[in-house]
Amino acid sequence: MPICKLCKEKEADRKNTHYLTDAIIRSCLNHNGGNIRETGMMFDISNNRNGIQAKFQRSTSAAVVEGTFGRAPTEEEIKQAKVIPYSVDYVFCTGCEDIFTAIEQDFLKQVLPKLRGHDFLGTPELNFDESIIIRRFFLLQVYRTSICDPGFKISNDFQEKLRKLIYSTKPDLDQLASIPLNVIYLNTVGDDFEYTRNTVGIASWDDNSLIIFNDFIIQAFDSIEKVKYVDFLGFNDPKTFAYFTNYQEKQFKFRVIDHETKVKLWKAYSDKKAEQERAFYRRIFINAYMDRYNKFPPVALLEAFVNEIIFGESVSDESRYSIERINKIKEMMLNA
Ligand SMILES: [Zn+2]
Repeated sequence: MPICKLCKEKEADRKNTHYLTDAIIRSCLNHNGGNIRETGMMFDISNNRNGIQAKFQRSTSAAVVEGTFGRAPTEEEIKQAKVIPYSVDYVFCTGCEDIFTAIEQDFLKQVLPKLRGHDFLGTPELNFDESIIIRRFFLLQVYRTSICDPGFKISNDFQEKLRKLIYSTKPDLDQLASIPLNVIYLNTVGDDFEYTRNTVGIASWDDNSLIIFNDFIIQAFDSIEKVKYVDFLGFNDPKTFAYFTNYQEKQFKFRVIDHETKVKLWKAYSDKKAEQERAFYRRIFINAYMDRYNKFPPVALLEAFVNEIIFGESVSDESRYSIERINKIKEMMLNA
């Protein structure tokens, strides 16, 4: 058994360790909300090639992962990806898992109730005295994700710094606050369904790392020199980015994005993705049709193919975007 990544002493005996806190992401990935195709979507930073996450949720279409795999995923890969989102086996030990739980419980009990369930319309900024609790909680997400997710890269120095901070039994605000940390709170108003409009995913590029964490967006930096504004689908604001990047703070600041704005930004993103997705399947069919008939397919047939892939009924979520199903529908329509 491998050695635990946090303590570097004991055997990593724990299975099913969530590297993004389950209590936070669960409501977003809860497909009972009904909006299956929108949920658990991975994302990329469109102008950032290396920012694409190599993982996908069960409802994520082949088009979205194409950038990473260069092809549609196989059924096996889709099954693998959907096992338990954002969790791993045999990376940490039971003792360290208890450390994680304690950090998570502090946040879930003392801070989260002040955020969820409130409407912060007209409140662009929130300040909290619980800086230690907040920082440990969000830096824990960054640390664990950097260990568990190969698509999420931070420097070894930064990772080691985070490891020591999380492992320490005496959390020290000065040390914690030496890490620039920007957290956006995406004001989510309404019932559980509203959380399924949020998303969960990661990106990293250069020295930046970013986690979309349901109603939070986390950006942490190695040092104050490494703080860099990037445009992220309209969520970051160049005018206030530095202001909301906590560093050696007294109170922890969250930037709040109101419900309507958030819904609009995610919708713009998913519309763009949906169009990319259609383009992806069109290309598959056009290529196959040209190969066989040496001419462009009839538009009605082309769109029928795309619609069957994306909206066709009597198919499980697991199989919908598999290369096997795509090929079957393609053959059927080529012979139509
Ligand atoms: Zn350990």
